Amino acid sequence: MPVYDYKCDGCGHRFEEIHAMDATPISVCPACGASKARKLLTTGGLIGAHSGKSSSPPPMPSCSGGGCGGGMCGLG
Ligand SMILES: [Zn+2]
Repeated sequence: MPVYDYKCDGCGHRFEEIHAMDATPISVCPACGASKARKLLTTGGLIGAHSGKSSSPPPMPSCSGGGCGGGMCGLG
């Protein structure tokens, strides 16, 4: 399960929680007990995700929308 970084807006305490992606985010700060904990964006676990070149797929000819009027685009 992924690790999430949290920070409390009340006392500034930062902590980590491990829970499922679809679990309810923690809102109560374990340090001060205030419901001001916010989940932070984290890049943990994404190491190497952006390495290498990103190639976009070639543009697909679109003739299925009816915009070509039936055969006018030459693809049908
Ligand atoms: Zn706190």
